[in-house]
Amino acid sequence: MKFIDIANIEVKSGNGGKGHISFRREKFVAKGGPDGGNGGKGGDLIIKGDNHLSTLLDFKYSKVYEAENGVDGGKNLCTGRNGKDRIIKVPVGTLVKNTETGEVIADIIEAGQMEIIAKGGSGGKGNAEFKNSINQAPRYAQPGIPGVEMKITLELKLLADVGLVGFPNVGKSTLISVVSAAKPKIADYHFTTLVPNLGVVKIAESKSFVIADIPGLIEGASDGKGLGHQFLRHVERTKLLVFILEAFSEDIVSEYEVLKNELYKYNPDMEYKKRIICINKTDAIDEDKRKELEDLVFEDSIKPMLISAVSHLNIENLKNRIWNLLTPTD
Ligand code: GDP
Ligand code: MG
Repeated sequence: MKFIDIANIEVKSGNGGKGHISFRREKFVAKGGPDGGNGGKGGDLIIKGDNHLSTLLDFKYSKVYEAENGVDGGKNLCTGRNGKDRIIKVPVGTLVKNTETGEVIADIIEAGQMEIIAKGGSGGKGNAEFKNSINQAPRYAQPGIPGVEMKITLELKLLADVGLVGFPNVGKSTLISVVSAAKPKIADYHFTTLVPNLGVVKIAESKSFVIADIPGLIEGASDGKGLGHQFLRHVERTKLLVFILEAFSEDIVSEYEVLKNELYKYNPDMEYKKRIICINKTDAIDEDKRKELEDLVFEDSIKPMLISAVSHLNIENLKNRIWNLLTPTD
């Protein structure tokens, strides 16, 4: 799958601190020697792979990342403190490019991997370092080396965490548009003109997931008819399945069975995926129908969630429930 999430940000490593110019002043010592200390090193700008992130959504809100500057040197040979590194966490699978040249700077392929993107500037030497037999009292020190500023592009091939499973017209596309905070770009989706609809859902900072609808899931898909296989392969990688059924259907439970059997026929492992069953379009039913739907019980005692993509009924609950199932407390 080639769903690509892209974020452009600006990064800067820390400036080196200035070297200091000073001379010892002590009672009874007519001329003290130079005692200006060195500046501290600027912090590095580091990118680190993190398994708990799956999208670049946070980078759409926060654009500038700076490491700390080194502190200037002081008198009494006091060395300035080094600036703190700035570590930016990105999802595993993120490619880091120089925005201006397009050059790949880093490829984050595992959790914990750290790459220095911009090195902090070195601190300048204080005047004490320049004392020698010829010049006993140097009146100069080095400035620190400035940090490196650059624009970088983060690129991530997205994999859906959550697959929406449902017959045509039950409201899958509508639901995705309602829950999505961002629409990823789709590149090279070459095997069909029908493109799975994909969205990034934000729960809170550093908490987001990718949801995809699987069009073309039709009866007979698992026999390789039509588009089924390519899409089912996509569903295969998801961690959670959300079945979408329709409030107006004559027999909701047997429609669920049909959908489910298609999936299981294709890949028996599907049976072990976590599931949520939603009944959509419940804005358009009366109270009796609502009671009837609320009392439905699916296999494994699953109770359906009654939602409405159009009127946003229960949508926040659904998002939170998805998030809780994706991130088990271990
Ligand atoms: P998909 O084929 O599963 O992607 O379904 P769509 O999202 O394209 O929706 C099909 C139709 O159902 C559209 O006319 C939507 O406006 C309508 N629809 C979707 N969600 C709701 C809902 O919650 N309530 C009602 N009344 N109509 C809905
Ligand atoms: Mg659709």
